[in-house]
Amino acid sequence: MQKTENKIYKIIIADDHQLFREGIKKLIYNKPNLEVSGEASDGKELIDLLRNTACDLILLDLSMPNINGLAALDIIKKKYPSLKIIIVTMYHENGFFDQTIEKGADGFMLKTQMFSKLTEAVEIIMNGGHYYDALSINHDLDDEKMDNKILQNNINYFNNTFERDVTSAIKDNEFNVYYQPILSTSTNKITGVEALMRWYKNGQILSPQDFIERIEKTKQIIEIGKVILEKSLTQVKKWHDMGYSNLSVSVNFSSVQFQSPHIVKNIKDALERTNLCPKKLRIEITETLAMQNLNFTKKILGELRNLGVTILLDDFGCGHSSLRYLQHFPVHGLKIDRSFIESIDTNEVNRSLTEGIITIAKQLKLKTVAEGVENEKQLKVIKDKKCEEYQGFYFSKPLSAEEFETMLTEA
Ligand code: C2E
Ligand code: MG
Ligand code: MG
Repeated sequence: MQKTENKIYKIIIADDHQLFREGIKKLIYNKPNLEVSGEASDGKELIDLLRNTACDLILLDLSMPNINGLAALDIIKKKYPSLKIIIVTMYHENGFFDQTIEKGADGFMLKTQMFSKLTEAVEIIMNGGHYYDALSINHDLDDEKMDNKILQNNINYFNNTFERDVTSAIKDNEFNVYYQPILSTSTNKITGVEALMRWYKNGQILSPQDFIERIEKTKQIIEIGKVILEKSLTQVKKWHDMGYSNLSVSVNFSSVQFQSPHIVKNIKDALERTNLCPKKLRIEITETLAMQNLNFTKKILGELRNLGVTILLDDFGCGHSSLRYLQHFPVHGLKIDRSFIESIDTNEVNRSLTEGIITIAKQLKLKTVAEGVENEKQLKVIKDKKCEEYQGFYFSKPLSAEEFETMLTEA
């Protein structure tokens, strides 16, 4: 980590709430390495100010007149990509949190946190990290209480940043794999499993929906992905050695992982280390990932195919791909998104669409797997259309390795 003690960070405060700006200025006044280089009371003023004001970091309020914080974030990140931005807000709103992360905010803080945590957050962010403390907060404050809070400096202290939580979770081996059985529609036998990550956090088991966007944003998904790959290949190899050598294992990869260096080598090494037959590994990438970066993705997929692994397009049908691309795309099969399967037994249009996807996939010689099969009627529809495989709560939810092993041995 680079030494940052002597550097002075120039900060612009953008907030229509004057009291807040004053409070922050007072706070920063005492910090030798922070300096306020400008103030704006709305988004438009901020954009104008940036043209002629030196700045390393912006404290950006979400709700401001003229151009709101979200829109300003968008504009600034495009125009000045290296400028760091901390979103500050009075309310903890999940939707906003996710949107700001998506748009590239480097930090997210409730105004109540600012006084105790700002210096620390700036330090982390200027060193290339992120500071999303909002995760640990679950209360909102109205304006009046907020003012009092600021004035009294009666601040709640929040301990850990998300990023540091994840780093120690990796170290403490808290990331694990659940396995959802995948079955053949024709034999109704288990043909494989999908490896799904879980975070064993303080006695709770968290699903990816609770954290995946954030670990993608911090790029920690790359390291966690390696753990998931290693664990799932080791586990499935063990099942092969117990006599269940037909089991395939599907592992999900996100675009951040795909763009990380040595992705192909990492997969190749993991296969060699665990001694798993490459044919039994299926790599799932989302349709959206594949279409984002067509040539790059094609190249990587080509290299993976050469290793002998199978490649499936995940969540097919809900992204933006055109069916036309499929014939030029080096994948072996499609996983039809749960949103189609969900209503094939009740919604005529979705049924036709699903049947259409299966028909086209067959013509292109692609394998089809239906996701999220929850009842017998849905199973019947895909079976009739000769979709080859399925997974879903109808047969089984994702299971721990022990639970799945019991299912295998008792079947
Ligand atoms: P996915 O790859 O599409 O995985 C299927 C998801 O659907 C799983 O959610 C599974 O529990 C859920 N599911 C399966 N059958 C049913 C059903 O019948 N009904 C309902 N309501 N849900 C069903 P999960 O485990 O929460 O994973 C969510 C997503 O997180 C995955 O979607 C995948 O995109 C991502 N993910 C999971 N593990 C990993 C991983 O190791 N690496 C990466 N990059 N992404 C992962
Ligand atoms: Mg998947
Ligand atoms: Mg899926």
